[in-house]
Amino acid sequence: MIDITNNSEIDEKALTAKVDRLVRKFEHEKGALSFKSPADPMAGLVNTLLSHNTTDKNRDRAYASLIEKYPTWEEVHKAPVEELAGIIRVAGLNRQKAERLKGLLGYLKDTQGAYSVDFLREMNFDQAVDALGHLKGIGFKTLAVVMCFNLGVDVFPVDTHVHRLSKRLGLVPEKYDAVKTFKALRPRIPAEKSYQFHLHLIQYGREICHARKPECGKCFVKDECPYYLKHIALNTSGV
Ligand code: SF4
Repeated sequence: MIDITNNSEIDEKALTAKVDRLVRKFEHEKGALSFKSPADPMAGLVNTLLSHNTTDKNRDRAYASLIEKYPTWEEVHKAPVEELAGIIRVAGLNRQKAERLKGLLGYLKDTQGAYSVDFLREMNFDQAVDALGHLKGIGFKTLAVVMCFNLGVDVFPVDTHVHRLSKRLGLVPEKYDAVKTFKALRPRIPAEKSYQFHLHLIQYGREICHARKPECGKCFVKDECPYYLKHIALNTSGV
């Protein structure tokens, strides 16, 4: 189970209030978003597994190659690792991903009798972690993405982009890794706002708060941003 009790480095009351302000500001500026299209969670899980350490474009190319070569999950499961790794090569870490994919499919077949994660539909996030979190490549991030985007569960995925913005906005200390950030933020996101806030942060990271050169002059949350105070405001105030 997830331990969210040990965040002594964080003022939890202040964090909750700040997250709430940010969620409302993003909603005001960018509009409300709600989960609309339930998708096949099995496809979502495989897609997310392929997405580790690569771009969306290469993930999509690898997934397209995979389903073109193997029309069923059974064929993926039975494919030799080397062959499978070759098919998904464009996604990078291809041998590791091929092994993890086969491991996942084998586990599902053994425990569920089918290549399906439809059982997740009946579960909350913590139950999903208990069910699949012990498998290689199926961590908090992967399960949160699938539960949030494929099943409409109100859980906040922390991927590379959300992690970067969370640190930049001072929601969590710079030294926090993605898992620690997930544990700190998960209970602070207002109810039913996880999907929306995740997408707003991703979009903002692409459009304004770039990794190298954030466009702080255009930013509507600069008053919440310690990066801005430290790197921009002090330098322009003549201090
Ligand atoms: S002020 Fe700059 S660094 Fe801070 S969130 Fe806005 S764009 Fe990003």
